[in-house]
Amino acid sequence: MKPDNETRSSKIITKVRGMKLHTQILIALVLGAVLGPPLGNIAVLIKPLGDAFINLLVMVVVPLIMSSLIVGTASLGNLRKLGRIGLKTVVYYLFATALAVAFGLGAGLAFGPGRGMDEEVKDSIKTEYAEDAAARVEQAIAQRERGSIGDFLVRIIPRNPFKAMAETDFLGIIFFSLLFGITLTMLAEEKRKPVVDVLNSVNDAMIVMVKMVMKVAPIGVFALIASVAAQFGYQVLYILLKYVVIAVGTMIVFTFTFYPVTLRLSGMPPVLFFRRFYEVMLFAFSTSSSNATLPLNLQVSEEDLGVSSEVASFVLPLGATVNMNGTAIYQGVSVIFIAQVAGWDLGVMDLLTVIIMATLASIGAAGVPGIGMVTLTLVLTQLGIPLEWIALVVGVERILDMTRTAVNVTGDAACAVWIAKTEGELNIPPVDTY
Ligand code: ASP
Repeated sequence: MKPDNETRSSKIITKVRGMKLHTQILIALVLGAVLGPPLGNIAVLIKPLGDAFINLLVMVVVPLIMSSLIVGTASLGNLRKLGRIGLKTVVYYLFATALAVAFGLGAGLAFGPGRGMDEEVKDSIKTEYAEDAAARVEQAIAQRERGSIGDFLVRIIPRNPFKAMAETDFLGIIFFSLLFGITLTMLAEEKRKPVVDVLNSVNDAMIVMVKMVMKVAPIGVFALIASVAAQFGYQVLYILLKYVVIAVGTMIVFTFTFYPVTLRLSGMPPVLFFRRFYEVMLFAFSTSSSNATLPLNLQVSEEDLGVSSEVASFVLPLGATVNMNGTAIYQGVSVIFIAQVAGWDLGVMDLLTVIIMATLASIGAAGVPGIGMVTLTLVLTQLGIPLEWIALVVGVERILDMTRTAVNVTGDAACAVWIAKTEGELNIPPVDTY
């Protein structure tokens, strides 16, 4: 390399290093999307870099939420407050999710994504994705076998907390951590303090670890996006463009109407929220996983949005599992799309069933890639629509998964801001300290 080339590249490196992390992530995302298709197989080969990055983050999640939840509850010393926060969170999540399904259904009915689809196109899509669809259906059947709603309530209580940790069973982990924290408040000070001190340090260490891991985020994001773009290209998107545009459009409208209302109620200007939070949205978009985004969401909500760590550490992990507004919208639009293509008439009762089923289906479904489509099969089954029709949406699943995950994490943070406000625990950092 010539010396002036060397200085130029080292200048570029210094410049990139000096950029804010979210700018780096954004550039990585755009570069990945643009370079993915021409890179082809090379892009697919570097995917492990992206997967390794997700593993690094998911690795932090369990110790991070456990330590912060236990410390938070143990220092709370006020069970009434905990009950109040819990109740408000659950009510908000149920309301937002049901509203999101209704939004999706409304958009589907208004714009008719599945109306007038050519028989030939229909058949070719069905044949092309039949195998993939069968695999999803199998996954859904396995999930359904795990039990009914009653069983689900029982399952929140983990028989073995270590198993819950090993399986990243968030609801089980949250239940155990809360109870552990509460129990600690009942111990004498000299017994309680060492445990809380240790967990406090664990929590601090995990936060530092997240910051370290995030330094390689641009590489991970580039690898993930490039491999998606290389694998799927833009062809499939084109065929199903209308459905994708309606689904993504509805998610965007929901994000910029419903959340601003929540934020205004909390006294936080929506523009400020989105300016400080968009890094988390980009991140969720790249990873398609609310769980992998959780550490960053916690960090940004506390440091940049000013949510107290007590509220964030309860509301956000719960939301990663329970509150999936993007997924709910996706289900509403997809049910209408599939029903229209399959020639299935849906009455008012069917629509109500979809709202209830899709809301319930999103609760307890883990925040991992692709789970929204698995739970979609539960809703279709309830309506009696043959599951083979799921083949229609498999091809564009990934791009929708990315979008809905970005909406999912935004919904959790908006709720955290609102709860923090109602508890008097929202201290929005001024612009200059940000
Ligand atoms: N990938 C989504 C999430 O992690 C869930 C889904 O598949 O809809 O939030």
